[in-house]
Amino acid sequence: MTSVGDGRGKATSPRLDAAFVGRWLRGCAADVARDRDFLTQLDAAIGDADHGVNMDRGFAAVLSVVDAGDGSLPGELLVQTGATIVLRVGGAAGPLYGSAFREAGRSLGDLRTFGLPELRESLELAMGAITKLGAAEEGDKTIVDAWAPALRALRRGRSSLHLALRDARIAAEAGAAATTPMEARKGRASYLGPRSVGHQDPGATSTALIFAALERAAR
Ligand code: ADP
Ligand code: MG
Repeated sequence: MTSVGDGRGKATSPRLDAAFVGRWLRGCAADVARDRDFLTQLDAAIGDADHGVNMDRGFAAVLSVVDAGDGSLPGELLVQTGATIVLRVGGAAGPLYGSAFREAGRSLGDLRTFGLPELRESLELAMGAITKLGAAEEGDKTIVDAWAPALRALRRGRSSLHLALRDARIAAEAGAAATTPMEARKGRASYLGPRSVGHQDPGATSTALIFAALERAAR
């Protein structure tokens, strides 16, 4: 990651590259592995107790994508990550997260370096893929309840990458916590109806991990 000036002596947002994406993906894998049992416990309460195991299996495979990805473009790494997640995570979360990473990668195209605006756009398209596939809205107690507030934080338009990603991580964590009193209207948890109230959503919780890893990758 290198910083570029704007020609007026003031540093603009750092340029992001494949190494940044690699750090992000490794960070996701580490956080998911650390919290695997917690995510599974959350899913045991309102689902089928596999979210942590599913995500850990998928992101462990993503590590191989990063290891083999020397010389790959940032977008290529993300597209391959998406394909790996679809194949290896399974459940509802596999196709949702898989298409999210794939769309983020596609939106970066063949850029070798990019900035905060392109990162923001790629995350917008990632959430577009999630809502296109899963048709969830905010308040349905899903991944979207963490992803949407994180994007709102990014849209506030902070010019500092670090502060923007910090805001996004805080918003995603708050969004995940805010799913506890919600009644699930999408996915397996919706079968429980009012009995889904009082439990934090596993998918929103793993989304908060993804945004936490993104913030750390930019440090
Ligand atoms: P499964 O429910 O098939 O066992 P996982 O346990 O891996 O899959 O993932 C469950 C998570 O998927 C939920 O906690 C929820 O956040 C997310 N989810 C389920 N359905 C949807 C949907 N339609 N849109 C967005 N997220 C969803
Ligand atoms: Mg499950």
